[in-house]
Amino acid sequence: MIRIDLHVHTIFSGDATISPKFIVNQLYSHPFIKGVAITDHDTLEGYDRVRKLAATYEDVLIIPGIEVSTQWGHINILGVEEKPRDWLTIERVIDFARERGGVIVIPHPYRGSSMGERMRDIPADAIEVFNPHSTYEQNKMAEKMAKAKNLPGVAGSDAHDPREMWAAYTEVKAEPSVEAVLNAIRKGLTKAKSARQP
Ligand SMILES: [Zn+2]
Ligand SMILES: [Zn+2]
Repeated sequence: MIRIDLHVHTIFSGDATISPKFIVNQLYSHPFIKGVAITDHDTLEGYDRVRKLAATYEDVLIIPGIEVSTQWGHINILGVEEKPRDWLTIERVIDFARERGGVIVIPHPYRGSSMGERMRDIPADAIEVFNPHSTYEQNKMAEKMAKAKNLPGVAGSDAHDPREMWAAYTEVKAEPSVEAVLNAIRKGLTKAKSARQP
C-alpha cells in the first residue's frame, strides 16, 4: 500500500507558489505519504522538474498528471506525459487520455460553476471525493456521485500553497510504481483520506 497526494500544483500552474524542490524535499521527509501526482493547470513543466529532482531519491513516487481546463470545468489526467493541444472540448480531452492510457479523474466536481451534474456523463475512471478546498457538502455530493456511478473515490490536497500540501491523500493498494498505482485506481483499490481526520 502506498499513500499518495493525487492533486498538487507547482509554480508552473501560474496560480501556485510551490516549488518542485520543496515538493521533493517534503515528500522525502514525510512520515507516511510517499507519492505525489503533479497536476498543474494545462502544463507538464512542473511535473518534469519534480521528476528530475526526485530521480536521486529513493522511495518516492512521482505520478505524471495534468489538470486540463475544459468548457465544463477541470479534468485531471494521470499517467500521461504529454499535454493535449485542444483545451476546449471535453470530448477531445477524454479521447486524448484514453488513447494514451491515462486515468481520468473528475476533481472537485461540485465546486465552482454548475459543472457538477454534467460531469455525471463523463466516462471517468475515478472521482475526487475529498478536496480540502471544497465545502463539506460539495465533498459529500462528490462522494454520492462516485457511488451512483460506481467509480473509485480518490483524494488530493489540491495544494497551491506549501502550507496546503498533504492535507488529503489516497491510500492505494499497489506496489510503488506508476503503472501499478494507475491500475489499482482503475480497479478501485483506493481509499480517500483527510489528513485532518485520519
Ligand atoms: Zn481544479
Ligand atoms: Zn487543482
